[in-house]
Parts: sequence; C-alpha cells; structure tokens
Amino acid sequence: MNFLEERIVKDGVVKEGNVLKVDSFLNHQMDVKLLDKMGQAFYKKFAEKQVTKILTIETSGIAIACAAARYFDVPVVFAKKSKSVNLDGDLYTAEVESFTHKNKNTVIVSKKFLSPDDRILLIDDFLANGCALQGLISIVKDAGAQVVGIGIGVEKGFQVGGRMIRNLGYDLLSLAIVDGMDAGTGEIFFREQGEI
Ligand code: 5GP
Repeated sequence: MNFLEERIVKDGVVKEGNVLKVDSFLNHQMDVKLLDKMGQAFYKKFAEKQVTKILTIETSGIAIACAAARYFDVPVVFAKKSKSVNLDGDLYTAEVESFTHKNKNTVIVSKKFLSPDDRILLIDDFLANGCALQGLISIVKDAGAQVVGIGIGVEKGFQVGGRMIRNLGYDLLSLAIVDGMDAGTGEIFFREQGEI
C-alpha cells in the first residue's frame, strides 16, 4: 500500500451511498505533510509536462493543488462555485453536478487567469462520476488551453469517471483507486497499482 492508501485505511470512514469520508486528514482537518507528499507524487509523474498552471475546483481541491504548486512552481487557479453568475463576458463557466451535495453548481473562472498558451494540470481530491473534471476540462477548452495531466487523490474505481477520463485519452494519475468499499464492515479494497 502507498502512503495515501495506508492513511485511508487508518482514518477514512466508509459511508452509505458510496461516500468515503476523509475529513480528518483531507477535507476538513488537513494533514499538511500528507498534502505535501501528494503534491510531490504529482510532480514526480508530471514534471516533464511543462505545466504552466494548476486548475482545481473549490473547496477540497485547493489545498492539494497548492501543495503540488510548490513543486511545479506555478500558480493555482480554482474554479469558483457561484450561484448567481454575472455573465459579463469576462468569465468561463461550466455546469457541474455535485456528487456529494446532489445539486448543480455553475463554476466560474475569470478569463484573465487562463490563456491559450497555458499547459494545465487539473487536480482534485476525488474522482467519482467525473462531473467536476468534465467541467474543468470544458473551461480549459473554452480558453483554448491544453490539459497536459490530471492528478486525483482518491478515484472511486467503481464509478464511471476514471474510465471515461482515460477513454478520452487524458493522462490521469489517481494516487489511490478504491475498487470497492463496504459501509457495513468499513472495508476498503484498493486496485493494485505500481509504485507512485
Ligand atoms: P465527480 O464530479 O467525479 O462525480 O465527483 C467528484 C467531486 O465530488 C470531488 O470534487 C469531491 O469533492 C466530491 N466527492 C465525490 N465522491 C466523494 C467521496 O466519496 N468522498 C468525498 N469526501 N468527496 C467526494
């Protein structure tokens, strides 16, 4: 098991409805050393991709993106979840359905923070059905920029997002891939991966 898988086994909590709670080290209370290791693992994988910017989505992706940005030495931009969008032409927008909150958000990024020559690394904490990533990808496309890699903390491999994103040809690294979990026993089953 890698460092993140070990931590998930130790402190993650399996909830009904295919939700893995990681709020004692990632989503609410945050273990900054763990975040740093995640950022370093993304750098190891994507260091040669000439990343110019990291794009994530509020809220939980921001801390991981910032940890990675220290290694890549690039800015972080986060898509904001906004209920009332001021569509004045200066914003990229995308509709994102939230897996955890079961609602739809319009996410926005100011046009001034993405440009066609940007090489973007997308980062998020979880990948479930892929809605958040699809929203971010569409914003990058609207900006005429390029997604050169995607770094995810925890992919729930039994949901469709990971397969869909890989089928689209994106270079996706998920530090932990959960192939199954049991809310009754609390068991979590990881997909075997090579060293990360
Ligand atoms: P997707 O858009 O891929 O369906 O879901 C990804 C988003 O939903 C992530 O940004 C993450 O915040 C949230 N999410 C999805 N599944 C889980 C989960 O099992 N646990 C937690 N903590 N967040 C999740």
